[in-house]
Amino acid sequence: MAVERTHKITLIPGDGIGPEVSAATVKILEVAGAATGVGFEWHRFAAGAEAFEQTREYIPKALYESIEQNRVALKGPVTTPIGGGFSSINVTLRKKFDLFANFRPVKNLPGLATKYPDIDLVIVRENTEDLYSGLEHEIVPGVVQSLKIITDKGSTRIAQFAFDYARKHGRKKIHAIHKANIMKLSDGLFLRCCRRVGEGFPEVEYQEHIVDNTCMQLVLNPYQYDILLTENLYGDILSDLCSAFVGGLGLVPGANLGHECSIFEAVHGSAPDIAGKDMANPTALVQSAVLMLHHINERATAELVQTAIEQVYREGKTLTRDVGGQSGTKEFADAVLEAMASPA
Ligand code: ATP
Ligand code: MG
Repeated sequence: MAVERTHKITLIPGDGIGPEVSAATVKILEVAGAATGVGFEWHRFAAGAEAFEQTREYIPKALYESIEQNRVALKGPVTTPIGGGFSSINVTLRKKFDLFANFRPVKNLPGLATKYPDIDLVIVRENTEDLYSGLEHEIVPGVVQSLKIITDKGSTRIAQFAFDYARKHGRKKIHAIHKANIMKLSDGLFLRCCRRVGEGFPEVEYQEHIVDNTCMQLVLNPYQYDILLTENLYGDILSDLCSAFVGGLGLVPGANLGHECSIFEAVHGSAPDIAGKDMANPTALVQSAVLMLHHINERATAELVQTAIEQVYREGKTLTRDVGGQSGTKEFADAVLEAMASPA
């Protein structure tokens, strides 16, 4: 099909398994785009250690400019060395573009048996403050302080995002997750903001659960939850936990959304243990790209990709090792391409 429109998208392949899952994702999007009249112009940039070697900057200026111009980026994981003197590249990008909402849908894929079938949860995580403020210092030798920043503005806008999403998509329930019994001021403020926003949404049931209890409740009965509305750190931890319901980190997509720009990336990290071995599951990044396609209003392309992914899982013949299969990253991607070419 002739290309009817072309989207300029900033691509950050990342490191660890990033280049492998990004290559698979780009290939799948290219083919799906070609079948639906959509072209992509990828503006590719290194970030992190690789970028530093090339440009002496962890996040090259040209990358910032590209995201500013294109307003949409697809990103693989980028490692931040532990204990180094610079802050996380992921956190820096989220802050720079004020990508305040981290949206992570956790949903089972058909045909992939897990201990918890039919999970359909959404994690809405505040993405710019909390213990990720990066404000840490040594008070005296042997004593350090890490500042947890919670603001009325940050909490209100993430709550607003969650309730708006619930209304728009007919979601029934929101649980605000907190530890306000201990962090009375910070989590207390977060809860007050959530309650205040919730008053404008009488059709959405609103509840509050303490984070440690939430971990237990999730494992006992995840079906009691619909949308989990969290601060930054609790959202990080609960995302990994919830990913296990649907088969692990190889599957769960994410979007970092702001008013100006958005960066789409999987929940997982760079998985150094399996990097460069053609073992990584690209599903999480491909599904992040599906979120991106919806975001840029390319619904037909999004649905073509999602349907093909689901077909590969339903057939269950060409799955990666993390979900019990034998196939490599490339073989899985080829199976998705084949499913697009000959739908079931
Ligand atoms: P980072 O510090 O970048 O988060 P990490 O060591 O925490 O890296 P994760 O990427 O979070 O690693 O992965 C945690 C575990 O999940 C690892 O054992 C990894 O192999 C596995 N994993 C993560 N992503 C995938 C994937 N896409 N496919 C297969 N396994 C994955
Ligand atoms: Mg990790």
